Amino acid sequence: MQDEVITTDMIIVGAGPVGLFSVFEAGLLGLKCHLIDNLDRAGGQCIELYPEKPIYDIPSRAQVTGKELINDLMKQVSPFEPDFHFSQQAEILEKQKNGHWRVTTTRGIMLEAPIVVVAAGAGSFIPKKPPFNKLGEFEEKSVNYAVYRMEKYRDKNLVIVGGGDSALDWVINLAPIAQKITLVHRREEFRGAYDSTQRVLKLAEEGKIDVQYGNVIDLVGADGVLSAVEIETLKGDKVTVECDYLMPFLGLKVTLGPIANWGLNLDKKHVQVCHETFATDTAGIYAIGDVCTYPGKLKLILTGFYEAAVMAKAAFAYAYPDRKMVGGYTTTNSVIQDRLGVGDHS
Ligand SMILES: Cc1cc2nc3c(=O)[nH]c(=O)nc-3n(C[C@H](O)[C@H](O)[C@H](O)COP(=O)(O)OP(=O)(O)OC[C@H]3O[C@@H](n4cnc5c(N)ncnc54)[C@H](O)[C@@H]3O)c2cc1C
Repeated sequence: MQDEVITTDMIIVGAGPVGLFSVFEAGLLGLKCHLIDNLDRAGGQCIELYPEKPIYDIPSRAQVTGKELINDLMKQVSPFEPDFHFSQQAEILEKQKNGHWRVTTTRGIMLEAPIVVVAAGAGSFIPKKPPFNKLGEFEEKSVNYAVYRMEKYRDKNLVIVGGGDSALDWVINLAPIAQKITLVHRREEFRGAYDSTQRVLKLAEEGKIDVQYGNVIDLVGADGVLSAVEIETLKGDKVTVECDYLMPFLGLKVTLGPIANWGLNLDKKHVQVCHETFATDTAGIYAIGDVCTYPGKLKLILTGFYEAAVMAKAAFAYAYPDRKMVGGYTTTNSVIQDRLGVGDHS
């Protein structure tokens, strides 16, 4: 645990699309943000669950994939130089004597600010891990629980484990580029959509992939790098399959986690807020995006963006009542344009 405490204006729990857009709205008002996310990158559900699927209901973007949306948001917030604390949960929330809040993460980072924004979506994503022998030894280099970039798997030997939609979808998507895919499933029936199941079985019939019904019983390799996995089939045969990447797609657990113990007013795992400010019932703590609830709430990205804009202004007025808030449009306000690093007002 580190001793140093980092002070800032706004601590944002969750670097999904809504947490990211909060950086932009807070930045326009001159506020500095630190973000914490359990994942190892920004993007929340867009990156974790559907990076390459098109979204059709972002205003003015007729079509944009989850990954493109997050890349563009990262560009949009870059003038405000947010600090990211990835691969750790925001764990402890404590009020300080000066009225500010301290958030301590599972890696011992301590952040203090007058404003904490809970933009935690459905909670922290945690992949369900299979109970494979020696999994921990190969996890860092050769075991992937999500596909972030399909090109990584070009000409590789992949062993995909699972029988649900995620496993089947990735078999279908990666089959054209991988050297070889072996799908391992513990039963002869798949849980995924009928259409996906038929496509996977057709790929197997055509010899484009291999399907093994059974269980992975051992991992083989050296220095954390896999070379093969051993499978025991339902018939009791032992099969050794060459493997560069083992990809268990057994689903994700999403849990609200430590936030549930922060004393906020909850309604079925959502944080109740005032829909005029997005303040919770605890002064200085705000909640926006999928995690918050109020009458008429729509769980959409565009709603979260609106909530971020309203929240930032309300939080600024609460935390800095003596400071003048810059208003106006990004098209015309010179202070805002200077903060964005555009225009010439010297
Ligand atoms: C398959 C699918 C398709 C979708 N399609 C659309 C669509 O077409 N249009 C649309 O508008 N919406 C769509 N959605 C919904 C949309 O993705 C969500 O509304 C949006 O992601 C909510 O953003 P968020 O930032 O509030 O939360 P999230 O994207 O869930 O991000 C929250 C982040 O908080 C982190 N977190 C949570 N708790 C902690 C903690 N204690 N410490 C650290 N980090 C934490 C999580 O790891 C996560 O990264 C879709 C969702 C899915 C699953």
